[in-house]
Amino acid sequence: MENENKGVEFVIGKQKNIALIAHDNKKGDMIRWCADNFDILKGHFLYGTGTTARMISEHTGLPVRGFNSGPLGGDLQIGSRIVDNEIDIVIFFSDPLTAQPHDPDVKALLRIAQVYDIPIANTKATADFIITSTYMNTEYTHQLMNFKQNVEERASKLVTNI
Ligand code: PGA
Repeated sequence: MENENKGVEFVIGKQKNIALIAHDNKKGDMIRWCADNFDILKGHFLYGTGTTARMISEHTGLPVRGFNSGPLGGDLQIGSRIVDNEIDIVIFFSDPLTAQPHDPDVKALLRIAQVYDIPIANTKATADFIITSTYMNTEYTHQLMNFKQNVEERASKLVTNI
């Protein structure tokens, strides 16, 4: 079908950059999930919020590059990497039953992942579906908004109000 608002093609490579985040009550689930999927995960590049990354590395031996701890900006660092096209997938075991001090950061990460059409799992079942997808072994091409064009159009439209 013809799409008049054709965006820009982005390719997620064969080897994925995967961000791993788990709230405290979910860290055990995350470590078990990583151990269960060790053979797949070892073929990709892993990142995580500080404590999650460290615990996964310690308990599974997988190399995980750690950012700051989530409440200290780690979720935002991962969001910023998504904008820079450096994170392809987010596995985020969030805790739906506990209030988080950094809830605005979590929302920001979820929103920016949506803007950039990033596969993001908030539950183990979703993570299982993603990790067993055939796209894990191939490139995946998706269309994103043309951000440069968007800025140009907005700037030229808004100048009339000055
Ligand atoms: P943590 O951060 O891995 O440093 O605990 C996770 C989070 O709470 O967002």
